[in-house]
Amino acid sequence: MKIDQEKCVGCGSCLPYCPANAIKMAEATACIELDECVECGVCRRVAVCPVDAIEQQPLEWPRAVRAIYSDPLNIHKETGLAGRGTEEIKTNDVTGRFKRGFVGIALEIGRPGIGARLRELEKLSMALARYGVEFEPKNPLTNLINPVTGELPPEIRDEKVLSAIIEFAVPESELLAVLEVVRKTGATLETVFSVDVACRAGLEVRWPMLATLREAKTYFRPNAKINVGLGRPLVE
Ligand code: SF4
Ligand code: SF4
Repeated sequence: MKIDQEKCVGCGSCLPYCPANAIKMAEATACIELDECVECGVCRRVAVCPVDAIEQQPLEWPRAVRAIYSDPLNIHKETGLAGRGTEEIKTNDVTGRFKRGFVGIALEIGRPGIGARLRELEKLSMALARYGVEFEPKNPLTNLINPVTGELPPEIRDEKVLSAIIEFAVPESELLAVLEVVRKTGATLETVFSVDVACRAGLEVRWPMLATLREAKTYFRPNAKINVGLGRPLVE
C-alpha cells in the first residue's frame, strides 16, 4: 500500500487502523513503511482518508504473498476460503480431518499487532518435517512447504504476514514428542504463536488429551465445540 504524498494532508486519521503499525507521520504527511506493511488493505478499505490518498500498488510475487495471508477478504484459490484459507481443525466435526486416535494440531504464527516474517514460520515447518509430520493438504500454506525439508521458497522468507497456520495430525501417542519439538523451536521464534490441539471426545465424553497436556507442563485453556447435530461426525 502507498500514500500519495501529493494528496495527503497529514490528518492522521488512517494511522490507528493499521494492524502492523506501518503508517507513520513524517513531517506534514503520513507514509507507509513498505517492509512493515502486510498488505492487509484495511487502511484503504475503512475509507477514512478525506482526500483518497491511500492507493493499492500492483502486488507481484513474492510481495503478493503478504496480501494472500493478511487480507481477510482474499479468497484462497486452493480452498475457496477467505482469511488464512483453511477450515482449521476446530471444524473437524464437519471436515473429518483427523480420526479417532489422532490429534489435530494447528500452529498459529503471528497476530495482528506483531505479524510474522515467513522465515519464522519456516523454522517450525522445518523442525516438524524433520520429525516426520505430514502437513494438512487442505491448508493452502501446505502448497508452499517442501514436504520433505519443510523449507519455504527462498524468495518469500523475508515477506511479512499478519498470521498463517501450519496444520497437521499425529497419533495421540506422539503428541508429547511433537509438543516438545514445537516448544524447543518456538523458543527461537521472533514473533508470537499459539498452539491448538484438538481431539474428539471419547465415547464416555472425556477428553483423553488433557492428561498429556498436563504432562507436557504447558499452560493450556480447554475449549469445547459442541456438535448439536448441524455438523456430521464424519470420522468414526
Ligand atoms: S495495507 Fe494494512 S498493513 Fe499496510 S499500511 Fe494499510 S493497514 Fe497497514
Ligand atoms: S487519512 Fe489520508 S490525508 Fe490523513 S494522514 Fe492518512 S493518507 Fe494522509
